Amino acid sequence: MKVARFGIDAGPWDAPRRWLVLAPHPDDFEVVAVTMRCLLERGCELFLEVLTGGASGVEDVFADGWEAKTAAREEEQRESCRRFGLPENSLRFHRLPEDEQGHMRDDRGNESRVRAILDRVGPEAVVLPHGRDSNADHRRTFRYFECWRNGREAKPLALLVRDPKTLGMRLDLVTVFDQEKAAWKAELLRCHRSQHERNLRSRGIGFDERILGVNREIGGEVGEAYAEGFALLEAPLVSPDRPGPETAMMELQRFSELKLARSGRSHSILP
Ligand SMILES: [Zn+2]
Repeated sequence: MKVARFGIDAGPWDAPRRWLVLAPHPDDFEVVAVTMRCLLERGCELFLEVLTGGASGVEDVFADGWEAKTAAREEEQRESCRRFGLPENSLRFHRLPEDEQGHMRDDRGNESRVRAILDRVGPEAVVLPHGRDSNADHRRTFRYFECWRNGREAKPLALLVRDPKTLGMRLDLVTVFDQEKAAWKAELLRCHRSQHERNLRSRGIGFDERILGVNREIGGEVGEAYAEGFALLEAPLVSPDRPGPETAMMELQRFSELKLARSGRSHSILP
C-alpha cells in the first residue's frame, strides 16, 4: 500500500480534534514536532503527558543526583514547549516510579497511573512509541496504552512513532517537511541540552542531527527531504453497521470507498 501523507492524503487522522502525546520521556514530543505543529495549525487541542523524569538519560557531568537531573529535563521540555507554542497547562509531568535500571517500574501501580491519564484526557487520538523498541519505557508505555485501548468501546486513533530506537516498523503515514521546518525542529531538539551534549559526547553528533537523520531516512523512503513516520495501530474497530474486527488498513479502505462513493466513482484507489 502507498504510504499516506499527513495534510495531503485524507484519512482517519483528519477527524480527531483532541490529541494526546503519551511521552515516556521529556523529548519524545520533539521527535514528531512537525506533525504536532500541523495539528496546532489546524486548531486541534494538544496535550503532552510526560511519564518519567528521564534522569537516567542525563550524565553526571550535566547534573548531580536524581532530583537535579529530573528537574533539568523537565525544564528543557518546558522551554521547548514555550518555543513550540504549547499552552503551559497542556503539559504535565508524572515522574512514575522507576526500577534499578532507571526505567519506569513495570507494575500495576504504574499501569493504573497511565490508565488514569488516558481516562482524564479522553483523547480522540494518541501519539506514542511503537511497541517494538529497544527502550523499556517505550515498550511499557505502548503495552499499557494497548491494554487500556482494548478495553474501550470508542477506540481513539493511535499513531505509533518511528524514532531512533524503533526496531522495524510498517510505515503507514508520513508528515513530509523541508529544510526550513527542519531548522525549526532542530532548535526545539537542542532545547534538550542534556541530551544534545550527551549525544555530542557519545555519538559525535547532536541530538538534533540524531533525530533529523531518522527523518531524512524516512524522507528517503518516500522521495522527500525529510519526514516523520507513523504506523497506525491495528485493532478491532467497533462499528454498529459493520461489526467484527477490522484492521487499520480496512478502515483506510472503507474510508477511501466512502469518498469514492461520494465522488461518484465505483472502484477503490487502494490496492
Ligand atoms: Zn523516549
